[in-house]
Amino acid sequence: MKIDLTGKTALVTGSTSGIGHAIARGLAATGAEVVVNGRTRPKVDAAVAAIIKAVPGARVKGVAADVSTGAGCQTLVAALPEVDILVNNAGIFEPKGFFDIPDEDWSRFFEVNVMSGVRLSRAYMPNMLKRNWGRIVFISSESGLNIPREMIHYGMTKTAQLAISRGLAELTRGTAVTVNSVLPGPTLSEGVEIFIKDLARHNGQSEEEAAANFVKQNRPTSLIQRLASVDEIANLVVYVSSKESSATNGASLRAEGGIVQTIA
Ligand code: NAD
Repeated sequence: MKIDLTGKTALVTGSTSGIGHAIARGLAATGAEVVVNGRTRPKVDAAVAAIIKAVPGARVKGVAADVSTGAGCQTLVAALPEVDILVNNAGIFEPKGFFDIPDEDWSRFFEVNVMSGVRLSRAYMPNMLKRNWGRIVFISSESGLNIPREMIHYGMTKTAQLAISRGLAELTRGTAVTVNSVLPGPTLSEGVEIFIKDLARHNGQSEEEAAANFVKQNRPTSLIQRLASVDEIANLVVYVSSKESSATNGASLRAEGGIVQTIA
């Protein structure tokens, strides 16, 4: 199978670093015209330049907008009125005990992780249905199934994405539009790299040891027993964004190394 998305436009939110950046790079490599998004112009410009360097001939542009606000989403939609592929990736996470999480954190997590995808799907999906082709992918998490005790608010947002994604898929009946979720497990994105470096320094370990111990201690059911790379997640997202994935709709697709032990 050779995935070719030439002629399609893809928007990946939160794609200046981490998993989102790898997805944007992966989609650019398939020939899609890719739109990178982050909150600041310099970071967006740097991400666009990095993809052009990694994928010669890539068609990439960037829009700076904060997708956690209605105004930010409006800015993005005004700059880019139509897309064929929408990847709702922007997201935040932070370990915090339930009794220490104030109302503001619950609202902030909901706005960034959930409402960004709600607003952008509401803006872009009607035209996908009209044109009878489109892909919407929500980047949820294994934490949407196994709610982490150290960040229940984050788990709540990742479960909410699964509900929205499945609900939107119901609206695609009989069309060639699909809406799916991808569930990564612990993945070595820039955000997680900083966390692992701190852990290694704190425990007097190498980064490799700290990363391996983190998985063993915090995700003991992991079958791969390591962090995933951002490209391992991006590969599945590129597939589910492709024309070849046309029978996959309303699905929650795992790229979490087997942490979740249920069969279905
Ligand atoms: P990251 O922190 O490395 O990157 C997140 C990106 O989103 C950054 O570029 C950041 O600037 C951008 N962003 C954040 N808030 C934004 C906003 N309001 N508007 C626009 N851009 C914004 O994170 P990551 O680890 O790559 O995570 C990406 C997604 O994958 C998230 O939804 C996260 O929940 C999910 N995920 C990550 C892991 C993991 O272990 N890394 C595991 C499961 C799921």
